[in-house]
Amino acid sequence: MDAIIVRYCEIHLKGKNRGFFEKLLRVNIEKSLAGIKHKFTAMHSRYLIEDFSEADYSVICEKLRKIAGVHTFSRVLVVPNDFDAIQNAAATLCKNRTGTFKIETNRADKTFQPNSVETSALIGGKMLELYGKNLKVAVKNADFTVNIDIREDGKTFIYSETEHGLSGMPVGSAGKGLLLISGGIDSPVAGFMTIKRGMKIDCIHFHSFPYTGEAAKEKVITLTKKIGEYNGGINLYVVPFTEIQEAIHKNCPEEYMITLMRRFMMRIAERLAVSLGDQAIITGESLGQVASQTIESITSSNSVVRMPVLRPVIAFDKLEIIDVANKIDTYETSILPYEDCCTVFLPKFPLIKPNLEKVVKNESNLDVEGLIERAMANIEKHSF
Ligand code: ATP
Ligand code: MG
Repeated sequence: MDAIIVRYCEIHLKGKNRGFFEKLLRVNIEKSLAGIKHKFTAMHSRYLIEDFSEADYSVICEKLRKIAGVHTFSRVLVVPNDFDAIQNAAATLCKNRTGTFKIETNRADKTFQPNSVETSALIGGKMLELYGKNLKVAVKNADFTVNIDIREDGKTFIYSETEHGLSGMPVGSAGKGLLLISGGIDSPVAGFMTIKRGMKIDCIHFHSFPYTGEAAKEKVITLTKKIGEYNGGINLYVVPFTEIQEAIHKNCPEEYMITLMRRFMMRIAERLAVSLGDQAIITGESLGQVASQTIESITSSNSVVRMPVLRPVIAFDKLEIIDVANKIDTYETSILPYEDCCTVFLPKFPLIKPNLEKVVKNESNLDVEGLIERAMANIEKHSF
């Protein structure tokens, strides 16, 4: 019989909270596997998934790869604590392999004889006897290791492959946040990184119909769905932004467009966040990347909100961000050439270092409150 062992790591460090983290991770895994036939058991420091069909094995692995808090997982053979059964299982793993190997035995069941060192040596010897044509023992730098884990409850796990999961913390262990998601490369990465640290996220997108069309919205929906797979489902709130942009365009100097737009985005995001019970705003800003991301610009947009603003990629280079975007498969979508509201009414010379007093003065030409209220009254919600 075979099974999958799922291990967690950082959770060990949480002292008294350990139970909370373990339970949350367990709930997240079970939710993610809902609809797939299997048996789930919590063991000491790990979980065991059994009784799945061969066809579902790769589906389960694909799910596990997207669960924050999963450190590693391995497909294991499960046999009773019986020397011959263990040896047969080891033979199954060694049968079609070539190169160097070693056996590593861990004996939690101290009544099991022979002891760990002897078990490794005996089974290693037997593997050479069976497959010595293709295999050699190597204590250091072996091509593969056959792990034998003899447990107290009468079961032994035998495995040779271990895959790394996302690590991080279980989603929901670090509260809730609202991600400002554009159609670009950076914000989906920022969202993913926050999720990975255990924050469950909602998404908000500002849409300037008809300047930005359906295709631009669809692109954001695709990106939201992709990061939603790590989040255990996700909600996207689309805010109509056209009236606000037109008002700025009409009443304020052109170079203030982006600066003022950002302040509206932050204010609306904070209000929505409060109404959703979200505790932070998350953006994909990266220091110095564009005019709107200088410290002066960030000061200007940050000064209209009181909620913490998390900027996970603030110190990342573009290439580092792209690297993560490729890993989470958002890059190809992000580079599709659709308009974003930031490219509408784009000034020739945006302010690089806006002066806060002047920003506030120019903003006073606008009915800030009325514009916000009307935008918020027409928010469209999508759930995935
Ligand atoms: P991204 O790659 O995420 O689009 P960017 O490098 O293009 O980022 P900006 O256009 O300056 O940078 O946007 C900075 C941040 O502002 C984005 O990362 C995102 O969090 C937020 N943002 C920008 N445009 C929108 C939008 N239309 N809706 C929601 N949030 C947005
Ligand atoms: Mg952008």
